[in-house]
Amino acid sequence: MGKGTLVSLLRERVPGLGLTVSATTREPRPGEKNGVSYYFLDDGEFDRRVEAGEFLEWAWVHGHRYGTLRSEAERLLADGRSVVLEIDVQGGLNVRRVHPDAVLVFIEPPSAEELERRLRGRGTEDEGSVRRRLANARAEMDCAPSYDVRIVNDDLDRAVSELAHVIDTYETTGGPTKDVCH
Ligand code: 5GP
Repeated sequence: MGKGTLVSLLRERVPGLGLTVSATTREPRPGEKNGVSYYFLDDGEFDRRVEAGEFLEWAWVHGHRYGTLRSEAERLLADGRSVVLEIDVQGGLNVRRVHPDAVLVFIEPPSAEELERRLRGRGTEDEGSVRRRLANARAEMDCAPSYDVRIVNDDLDRAVSELAHVIDTYETTGGPTKDVCH
């Protein structure tokens, strides 16, 4: 299973965790709800919010724009929670510039073949989108060495435990965790 599943299981394991809902210009998939999966914005509204400085970070990913609203992160941080952003590598590296104490965790698919199998298996992407997502995943791997921690998402239970451990260490020491996993 992919990153989305990993993050939902993490929420069960670490109940107080804050998860931001991102904004995107991509179309909702069947079953996705506005304000729950994402805030689905049209291009004009996304532009307006970029210009108003409302984004902590935003990036083009797979041909659409995705971004974390400052208000989302600030609301959760004000509650005293640890906050997890499930975002691409451009976003991760941008967040680090604003929050140098952020811990960047790279979730690695077990292999390119397995990633392709998962993408096709979930049946939400057309052929062009599958190809674009696979090419992006390869390009993202180049950024893995810049991340603080790498977790291979081959065994879901182990990956969730490793992620929970990263958060626990962060909450205990208040600082980045370096190479605790791999
Ligand atoms: P999907 O279209 O499959 O929901 O998401 C595609 C990718 O967009 C995700 O793998 C994630 O890395 C990235 N993404 C989702 N939300 C954000 C965000 O707020 N900012 C950035 N930079 N990337 C995001």
